[in-house]
Amino acid sequence: MTESPRFRFAPSPTGSFHVGGARTALHNWAMARRLGGTFVLRIEDTDEARNRPEWTQGIIDALAWIGISADDPHFEGPHFQSEFADAHIAAAQRLFEQGDAYYCDQTGDQIQERAKQLGTSGYDGYSRDRGLGPAPGNVLRFRVPAGTTVIHDLVRGDVSFDNSTIEDFVLLRGNGTPVFLLANVVDDIEMRITHVVRAEEHLPNTPKQQMLWTALGHTPPNWAHVPVLVNEQRKKLSKRRDKVALEQYRDEGFLADAMVNYLMTLGWTPPGASEIVPWDEMETAFRLEDVTLSPAFFDLKKLTAFNGDYIRSMPLAEFTELAAAELPADWDRERFAAIAPFIQERLPTMSGVAEKVDFLFWPDGFDIEFDEKSWDKAFKPEWALSLLDDVIGTYGSVEWSADALKAALEDIMTRYEIKLGKAQAPVRVAVTGRSVGPPLFESLEILGREETLRRLSAARERAALTD
Ligand code: GLU
Repeated sequence: MTESPRFRFAPSPTGSFHVGGARTALHNWAMARRLGGTFVLRIEDTDEARNRPEWTQGIIDALAWIGISADDPHFEGPHFQSEFADAHIAAAQRLFEQGDAYYCDQTGDQIQERAKQLGTSGYDGYSRDRGLGPAPGNVLRFRVPAGTTVIHDLVRGDVSFDNSTIEDFVLLRGNGTPVFLLANVVDDIEMRITHVVRAEEHLPNTPKQQMLWTALGHTPPNWAHVPVLVNEQRKKLSKRRDKVALEQYRDEGFLADAMVNYLMTLGWTPPGASEIVPWDEMETAFRLEDVTLSPAFFDLKKLTAFNGDYIRSMPLAEFTELAAAELPADWDRERFAAIAPFIQERLPTMSGVAEKVDFLFWPDGFDIEFDEKSWDKAFKPEWALSLLDDVIGTYGSVEWSADALKAALEDIMTRYEIKLGKAQAPVRVAVTGRSVGPPLFESLEILGREETLRRLSAARERAALTD
């Protein structure tokens, strides 16, 4: 019986969770679920100087946020690399005993010095046949065989490496600890991994790792190296330069579904007319073979557009509940529900809702803090005061509905030969304190006649004073 496929995601808990890592995790997740296999989460926590437990929790939380849930039957783990330390050492020992690895006492300086004399670069295999044993300071090196190593990569096809370009690489450091290359392979073997899907930057490690799989008596896994993510300048996304932390996007009001959908489109195009596709469909359609080779541009504008799309297509009740969760507790929820559909229409992210609608919740007699620029612009035209007088007059008795309020203002503005956008400005600034916000007439309808008139009159007075 052949075992069902086993994928793994193997992050190092050394920082916040990178969007590129999230995409790799999603690729593994989609494949494991579609093929009825397993997604193994392995935390590579052997870099003690850089690991922190909170980063591990951050990874688990971030995965859960993008739908990779530890409760799913396809999920296994988390396993921790540090728990397999004995297996790493045992594998190294075995390679040494088999003659596939040897100890070497050469320091970096000695290696460089000889390379200089020989006119070569790197380590020259000096200790291959010196018969050294383990001793403090001695590293264990893999004896790279002659020939060619061919990687069968699901994304890239066959990639050949001439073994003569690969030096006898280190497996155990001088202090006896295993290096990443070895630990990573031994863990994959121990966890019976069948598919290694990871970022392109690991491709140069792969011939070495494939040699280790073979030397340890196992058939190498299926490899897949997905292209890097780049920024607008086509530079690889980096922590220092770019906004890469998944958590930050979550905190800025990006929806998990939008994020997941967008990440999946980086280097891969879902079939069909639209790129906006629910997870189930992507999971069914995603093939590593269809991932492109070129670097994928992580486009914040496009992500934001996806997010707006997802926000708009949420059921109103769901949107209202989600948005209301961020509002101060004493804001009237019914009043918010009334404005919610108008907010939903034009919201790029879920953050900043409160600032957009706060004017509906100011208490009676609240002293509005006007945005001075908006004020100056709205009240600069010489007709502004007179228009406001007309509005106050008409709004005292007009039917209190968005349509009627709009019609009344349209009626007034014809007298001043101005367009609606201009005519709205002093009204909006008077009532909300600023020049941008949700649709005006719907806002006024919700605010009510009394409070609208109170604010219009207060602004009228203020404008007259500053006139
Ligand atoms: N811990 C490695 C990383 O985060 C894992 C590489 C791999 O997937 O093999 O880059």
